[in-house]
Amino acid sequence: MELINKFRELGYRIRTQLVPGRGSVNGMILMFHRVVEELGEYRHPQLAQLHVTTRHLEHLIVGLREQGYEIISLDGLCHKLNGNQKKAKFVVFTFDDAYRDTYELAYPIFRKHAAPFTVYVPTAVPDNNFIWWYYMLDDLVYRNESLDILTMQDSHHFEVRTEEQKRHAYKAIENLINSIDPNHRRDELARMFARYGLNAREYDRKLSMSWAQLGELSSSGFVTIGGHTVNHYNLAHMTLKEATNEIILGKKRLEEKLDVAVDHFSYPFGSKSAAHFREFDLARSLGYKTCTTSRPGYITQGHCHYTERLPRIMVNMQQTLQGLAGN
Ligand SMILES: [Zn+2]
Repeated sequence: MELINKFRELGYRIRTQLVPGRGSVNGMILMFHRVVEELGEYRHPQLAQLHVTTRHLEHLIVGLREQGYEIISLDGLCHKLNGNQKKAKFVVFTFDDAYRDTYELAYPIFRKHAAPFTVYVPTAVPDNNFIWWYYMLDDLVYRNESLDILTMQDSHHFEVRTEEQKRHAYKAIENLINSIDPNHRRDELARMFARYGLNAREYDRKLSMSWAQLGELSSSGFVTIGGHTVNHYNLAHMTLKEATNEIILGKKRLEEKLDVAVDHFSYPFGSKSAAHFREFDLARSLGYKTCTTSRPGYITQGHCHYTERLPRIMVNMQQTLQGLAGN
């Protein structure tokens, strides 16, 4: 099995990267998370790098068009890949996780510029079942000077006075959280944060997009709604049956609530340790037109054979127009 996968990986690299190589790059899928008016609300670098300002987003939309890039939807990308348009320069904008600011801040910019984009929705977010624990953890670590974290098994003490201590504690508590059985995670997290006066509901109100907002996006005619499972768990850590359910139930929920076909999917986290051959084969078997990862890379003609594993370029404030457009 291991050897077969090595050959598959080699085949992917040859067809998408060597033939044709970097010289004949024709497209890219950009990955965004948060859009904010001003930077600076969140302190941990892991969170800060998820943010772009409205100005930066608009600058990229306008600038990429000026550089000859056509802004297209994921359906448009399928046409390009099937149509053998090697010379076309195109860009697809995607936003992960259904943050409220995708609706409040990104959507008006795309409307103003008549440009399409995609939002990938873990359905627990509009269902108000999602715990934005990494934002809660940021506040927990940066608002306190020492912490006692109680899990079902242990208690852990952290001094969090200096920046270094805060970063260390963030990482250590993140690891603790990731080791909690998903079936108990909600209750454990609620307990862990409530001790320090942090309420998951408040974060939910501030960060989650609602079904009504998603409905408005999906009926606008220029927003694609993509699947992103139900709970945004790491699929590679689940049994095949559980992973299949996470994907299918998320898709069904979106289709029911929004009355749209959900033909596109993005793997939660999307890294090699969260989506690999088992997940690619699974998503492909479910009939999606495209599936995106968070592995970095440009889209080349060779990706027409690999629509279940399209790479994306993560965009944050460090990502310049020149860097993206390769000039
Ligand atoms: Zn995500």
